[in-house]
Amino acid sequence: MQEFDVVVAGKGNAALCAALAARDRGASVAMLEAAPQEESGGNSRFAGGVMRFAYDGVEDLKKIADIPEDEAKNADWESNTVEQFYDDLYKVTSFRTDPALSETLITKSLDAMVWLRGQGAKFAPNYRHQSAVIEGKRRFFGRMPMWMVGGGPGLVQDLTDTAVKKGIEIFYDTRAVSLIHDGERVQGIRAQQRGKAAEFHAKAVVLACGGFEANPEWRTRYLGPGWELAKVRGTRFNTGDGLKMALDVGACPYGNWSGRHAVSWERYAPEYGDLTIPESSYRHSYPLSIMINADGKRFVDEGIEFYNYTYAKYGGEVLKQPQQFAYQVFDAKVRPLLRPEYSDKRVTRIVAKSLEELAAKLEGVDPEGFLKTVREFNAAVKKDVPFNHSIKDGRGTTGIEPPKSNWANPLDTPPFEAYAVTCGITFTFGGLRIDPESGQVLDSHLHPMPGLYAAGEMVGGLFYFNYPAGTGLVSGTVFGRIAGNGAGAAALAA
Ligand SMILES: Cc1cc2nc3c(=O)[nH]c(=O)nc-3n(C[C@H](O)[C@H](O)[C@H](O)COP(=O)(O)OP(=O)(O)OC[C@H]3O[C@@H](n4cnc5c(N)ncnc54)[C@H](O)[C@@H]3O)c2cc1C
Repeated sequence: MQEFDVVVAGKGNAALCAALAARDRGASVAMLEAAPQEESGGNSRFAGGVMRFAYDGVEDLKKIADIPEDEAKNADWESNTVEQFYDDLYKVTSFRTDPALSETLITKSLDAMVWLRGQGAKFAPNYRHQSAVIEGKRRFFGRMPMWMVGGGPGLVQDLTDTAVKKGIEIFYDTRAVSLIHDGERVQGIRAQQRGKAAEFHAKAVVLACGGFEANPEWRTRYLGPGWELAKVRGTRFNTGDGLKMALDVGACPYGNWSGRHAVSWERYAPEYGDLTIPESSYRHSYPLSIMINADGKRFVDEGIEFYNYTYAKYGGEVLKQPQQFAYQVFDAKVRPLLRPEYSDKRVTRIVAKSLEELAAKLEGVDPEGFLKTVREFNAAVKKDVPFNHSIKDGRGTTGIEPPKSNWANPLDTPPFEAYAVTCGITFTFGGLRIDPESGQVLDSHLHPMPGLYAAGEMVGGLFYFNYPAGTGLVSGTVFGRIAGNGAGAAALAA
């Protein structure tokens, strides 16, 4: 049996932020990580590392990164004001996001990024994606011009280095299995450590051990039949343990338990995420494509928005198609605009000199259905509206269902390319109900549960149906920091 002021379950971004915040208050802190060290870091380590936080302009961005003056002046950095962030989050969640949670997330997001930098994390302008030079000027679009240097792996490494320096003890291969609860307060965690039982006693516990995305049985149970067939984009360790442990002692379930973040993903990707091939399975350039299913039919408006407002829900649309696959089809006109992953050697790509040849090569697709779809689509494009991929250009279609609202181009310039995708699940939306001010978990009668805090994917109530890109890591930092502060303060007062 070991004793600490605060024990944190998990070692992703939310857990690291919680541990660092509790440690900075003077608490002794242990982190329990189910994964062995080489696979540790959760989904945070798989993340691309783009961050969505509120900022008014480049002056705010300078608070978290060194941006040379000429770059600062010469680029259009956009803004993501508090109001714009509210608009986006409310719009994509169909106005279901919890008002108090989303207020905390949004209004504390910039300050949390400044704090994150103070903990050793490094930010830089995101020139790789959603940025382009248009008429000589660098322009960002999608309201997230910053990313973490080294992506998710860089973020996790930087925070881990700081945690070790600050004397936080990290126990790898240590899976939390239940809470020590005396009927009144949580007093620690029972764990399995390399096959042996272990107990970690604490004055406060923070659960930050992810959702249930890597658990096919829970996916089928909560997300619905068919979800056991999705590929997992990230860690294999987020199997819902933290949620189960908390629900077992009376915590309140909250949010969209049948909801999830799921994207179009390489059809033949490995079963779980693979840290050695970061981003190789991403297929986020679909707004420039038409997406077709086994019948050769389109099934979504590929261009209704920038990808960061649709990608998290369109994976679910792919899963609904016969045999859970689709093809993203492009022609040579837009090929140079595709993200670099499309050139990776591990992609399932089919290339053809004519549409007829492509139709014959698309395995499992009705060729006649496909050619009919392309003919109708090509005829429906509003060719008088100029194409511009850096804005919502309004170059859509007329008279077809579903429409394509922006970035529509006839498929007429060979070579044609098709990329096979299936559904890749990122994380689940259902979680626990917390007090947004303290991170404390509430019980099913909405009383704070003494000694129990939660953060990250385990927080329910923020995301419903859909998700704006770049919010997961920021939510982990905002609520991880709050939970760590809350747990640290409670532990020291006990
Ligand atoms: C491929 C991919 C790309 C992404 N890109 C971005 C992006 O660019 N920007 C963004 O904002 N978000 C992104 N996300 C989402 C983001 O990664 C998550 O929202 C975020 O990392 C969740 O943080 P977390 O700390 O809550 O969970 P995680 O980082 O998943 O951490 C959970 C931790 O708990 C551990 N654990 C699980 N069960 C137990 C147990 N029983 N006992 C002990 N430990 C346990 C896990 O091993 C892990 O260490 C991406 C996700 C993926 C998969």
